[in-house]
Amino acid sequence: MMVIMHESATAEQVAHVVARVEEVGASAHVSTGERVTVIGVIGDREELTALPLEAMPGVERVVAILKPYKLVSREFQSRDTVVEVRGVKVGGGQFAMIAGPCSVETEEQVMASARAVKEAGAHMLRGGAFKPRTSPYAFQGLGEDGLKLLAAARDETGLPIVTEVMDPRDLDVVCRYADVLQIGARNMQNFLLLAEVGRLDKPVLLKRGLSATVEEWLMAAEYVVKEGNRRVILCERGIRTFETATRNTLDLGAVAVAKLASHLPVVVDPSHATGRPDLVLPLSLAGVAAGADGVIVETHPNPERALSDGAQSLPAAAFGAYAARVLELARWVGKRVD
Ligand code: PEP
Ligand code: MN
Repeated sequence: MMVIMHESATAEQVAHVVARVEEVGASAHVSTGERVTVIGVIGDREELTALPLEAMPGVERVVAILKPYKLVSREFQSRDTVVEVRGVKVGGGQFAMIAGPCSVETEEQVMASARAVKEAGAHMLRGGAFKPRTSPYAFQGLGEDGLKLLAAARDETGLPIVTEVMDPRDLDVVCRYADVLQIGARNMQNFLLLAEVGRLDKPVLLKRGLSATVEEWLMAAEYVVKEGNRRVILCERGIRTFETATRNTLDLGAVAVAKLASHLPVVVDPSHATGRPDLVLPLSLAGVAAGADGVIVETHPNPERALSDGAQSLPAAAFGAYAARVLELARWVGKRVD
């Protein structure tokens, strides 16, 4: 449930409500807005209904939430969450372009990608060092050596780095280098991993699972936020459908739904959604039109030599023209892009 405080409620009154909620074993998450403070309460329904919250000083009203997610809901926080990473902002009208190769392969490949995306106006560099591959015989990523190459690219370009973590046992090493922790589609319901990244002070880019509903995706985000980490970026990367013309089906409706249902920023991944470089631009534009706060796109200096996802990667030489179109539309729909 949510406790909405009076505009004039004092900090002591807020603290009192929090203390009473915690007394019955529930947890309280305070969101301080410009005008009102809202306290999200999670706990045993019976214990909480027995608590006369409405009678407490400073309380305006108590709203029971039927949706299973609370902390990530718009009801809990009406203003957009803006996730800030080394000075780069995503959400709240600020558009972010995240781009780079699927996997980190070599120094030359990472540096060429980083320079191309920086030059084109991208805000962050992506690249996987720990890769979730369908085949155990496929390239699994360079591990820490890959993270070091990403860090070197960040040193040169200033671009924050987004990289995947698949296993709680790798969190220490990934956190030493990463600016944003990507949770991949296959791990969206790895609840132990979600809770672990929820206890860290690092933004999380949470991809939607291949067959997850929007509600399940938001519940996954709730796992992270519940542990205290509020810096979550949602990513729609296409879902499995009967359609085979594209690798997955980009669910633009889900982008619009997630923007309405949640205050978290939402980005679109047209590369994994389509599996085809010729569809990356049109679906990036569609994502922007649907309200996305950013895109995450794969690009490679030489896609035909890529060790993963070369078939869907934009050639780095074509990235500038792509980025110009996407950033132009983002500006046109009223987003800030620099
Ligand atoms: C990736 O970003 O390269 C990736 C593996 O993405 P997803 O988890 O969406 O398949
Ligand atoms: Mn990929």
